[in-house]
Amino acid sequence: MDRFLRLRVTLVLVFLLPLLPACTKGRPAGPLRERAAASDSQSPEQKGPAVPRKVAKPDEEWRRSLTPEQYAVTREKGTEPPFTGAYYSFKGTGVYRCVCCGNEVFGSETKFDSGTGWPSFRAPVSEQSIRTEHDTSLGVARTEVLCSRCDAHLGHVFPDGPPPTGLRYCINSVALDFVEKKE
Ligand SMILES: [Zn+2]
Repeated sequence: MDRFLRLRVTLVLVFLLPLLPACTKGRPAGPLRERAAASDSQSPEQKGPAVPRKVAKPDEEWRRSLTPEQYAVTREKGTEPPFTGAYYSFKGTGVYRCVCCGNEVFGSETKFDSGTGWPSFRAPVSEQSIRTEHDTSLGVARTEVLCSRCDAHLGHVFPDGPPPTGLRYCINSVALDFVEKKE
């Protein structure tokens, strides 16, 4: 019986050990279209602060489902001209969703007027709702803000915001979709 158990443990180790390095190599970093399809059938209506499930679509699908302005900002990391977007001085009460996938990214309770001409927020809805990346485009070191669910470019975050976070999430209006919440 004892030998049988040892044999089973040995067999399990022999089969599992080669898998371990593969698990620690991190996520695939390939282009979006390589990760497409698998998560496409998931419901876009995810509630709560749980880690959002990934939405990945081929570039052509994003191009079809977005306006040229939305596509240029969210999928090609563009920036809308200041004082032109729908939300820079907007004061509605509700939640701002990613225009690409509907992920809730910012709430009106953290919005403030930064005077920059872009909607500005002190914090995202949750730590899981967005992700950030180091960005050195334009020869300036900045921190890019992306939707954690579909990797849409939303804007940048700067360390010159008001308390309590001291952060200023400078977000393009065209990357957002406001949904009013009645109190
Ligand atoms: Zn998104």
